[in-house]
Amino acid sequence: MTTTIDTAETKTFAAETSRVLQLMIHALYTNRDIFLRELISNASDACDKLRYESQSNNGLMGDEPDLKIHIAYDEKAKTLTIADTGIGMNREDLIAHLGTIAKSGTSEFLSQMTGDASKDVNLIGQFGVGFYSAFMVADRVTVESRKAGEKQAWQWDSDGLGTYEIKPAAARARGTSITLHMKKDAKEYLDRHKLGHIVSTYSDHISFPITLTDEEGVTHNLNDGSAIWTRPKSEVTDEQYHAFYRDVSHSPEKPWAVFHNKAEGKTEYTSLLFVPGIKPFDLFHPERKRRVKLYVKRVYITDEGVELVPPYLRFLRGVIDSADLPLNISRETLQKSPVLDKIRESVTSKVLGEFKKRAEKEPAEYAKFWDNFGAALKEGLCEANSPREKILEACRFYSSTSPEQLISLADYKSRMREGQEAIYFLTGDTLATLKNSPQLEGFTKRGIEVLLLTDHVDDFWPNVTQKFGELPFSSVTKSGADLEKFKLDDEAEQAEEKAESSDAVKKLCEVMEQLFGDAVSAVRTTRKLSDTPICLGVTEGAMDMRMERFLADHKQLPKRAAKLVEINPTHAIITSLANEVSAHGITSKTEDALWLLFDQALIAEGEPVTDAIAFSRRLGGFLAKGIAG
Ligand code: ADP
Ligand code: MG
Repeated sequence: MTTTIDTAETKTFAAETSRVLQLMIHALYTNRDIFLRELISNASDACDKLRYESQSNNGLMGDEPDLKIHIAYDEKAKTLTIADTGIGMNREDLIAHLGTIAKSGTSEFLSQMTGDASKDVNLIGQFGVGFYSAFMVADRVTVESRKAGEKQAWQWDSDGLGTYEIKPAAARARGTSITLHMKKDAKEYLDRHKLGHIVSTYSDHISFPITLTDEEGVTHNLNDGSAIWTRPKSEVTDEQYHAFYRDVSHSPEKPWAVFHNKAEGKTEYTSLLFVPGIKPFDLFHPERKRRVKLYVKRVYITDEGVELVPPYLRFLRGVIDSADLPLNISRETLQKSPVLDKIRESVTSKVLGEFKKRAEKEPAEYAKFWDNFGAALKEGLCEANSPREKILEACRFYSSTSPEQLISLADYKSRMREGQEAIYFLTGDTLATLKNSPQLEGFTKRGIEVLLLTDHVDDFWPNVTQKFGELPFSSVTKSGADLEKFKLDDEAEQAEEKAESSDAVKKLCEVMEQLFGDAVSAVRTTRKLSDTPICLGVTEGAMDMRMERFLADHKQLPKRAAKLVEINPTHAIITSLANEVSAHGITSKTEDALWLLFDQALIAEGEPVTDAIAFSRRLGGFLAKGIAG
């Protein structure tokens, strides 16, 4: 729709846009070459969009069937023009796309800005505000455009200082020309070699021809012009892969991995996928957006709302080009296409296989990947139809015996003690607190390895994926009882048995149960502890403590369950309390001591103490005695 307004209008940039522009205008010491990459990338997107739209609307191409990008410059006028024959923009588009930044990531982008221009400019591409990078090199930008299928052309003008002007323009070819009036210090870009060099560095992979006309009027081809994923692997250099990655990911770093594959057989498709070298800023946003682009026979279809990869692989970037889908498929019917399901399955299986391979071959490199994306990958363990065994094979963990180096489940299995029938794990907030958790003591003493899990998702997946092969996952908070199977040396073993069966200890358990009342479901002895007198446990079959706390915090549970208290019968504090209680019954001193112990167990699990005021009073009392001592 065109609006008939024939005078020029001056409009104010949205506040966020102004801030981005400020950043661009002052980006002095950064790599300014990227403005060209961003403008070419937009031109290429515009050509992609038109090619897609014209599948269902033949008329759109009009009398210009070629999709292409052209660069020209004028040293005298100090202008550089990037023109495309893509979809174009009408008045509304110009206002919506070049006057505001209507993207979900913008405020995030602004909040991540450090004030250090060189770092901030790297963020620019990632947050999709590429157009404005033109103001790094230009003090005035003119955009002329005519949208495919419309007659009226429009012109947008701005110096980036707060306002832009928009007005109807003289008739012109379909598509967009962006003219940069170069800053005094940016004349270096009005040079054929410089421009050619930037294009071959950053934009060679663009699948539309890019040409440049020089000062003598000679036109040069600057790129190969064929889609990079259609070329044989052997003909693509690392630099070309990386440049393409930068373009699809909007991220400046090198990808961690490049997977370029041609699948033949039942489903035919080509995939060129990248694992980013850094964690995308929105990896854990609730929408879990997937961004792999779908092409059908080299025609760009979409990168939104298609499930080309499962949510737990949403960090992948790149393209999948299928020959098995009809070209005129609408984005709506795509969702239901069985071809898409097959592609997703096949891609998932290939990618997981690659992860497994790399984890085994290059563990140090894989650790970087794991640090960025392990938590996302483990989400797949919670999903009903995911290939869980395959995911588990790609998973890596820290453990009580290997707190610094990641291990695989196969490693764990090979180190299991004879008679061990489960993979033990403990979840917590940080590795540092887990390493010192009293819950581990008895396991460590018996040489049994425990996985230390610190991601949010770790509170969930072991409840869903219950096994690795035949081996169940078992939380050490629940499985203290298993330890009886693993004998210590005779002396220690006898001491444990004697302590457990002593009348004084039994009596102590009863007294504690009475004292703590409803807060506690039972008090029992455990072999899990060694240097600590007391801890909290979970009864077999009950919900794990952290999961319970999470659900309660999110109002998904009416009330927390009573706690299971486990005491270490061989610990000096417990034995002396047991003797004291059986000799004198409960006194105010033993009562205070027992409450302090219970609160100490709560603190160790990250729970609040029962009664903070009573706790301070009791602790104060004992401290006073200790110091007076
Ligand atoms: P992004 O490309 O990530 O969307 P940009 O700031 O680079 O962000 O561009 C903003 C928007 O302006 C694009 O999404 C597009 O809608 C529009 N646009 C920019 N350049 C062109 C062009 N050459 N042809 C058509 N539309 C364009
Ligand atoms: Mg862009």
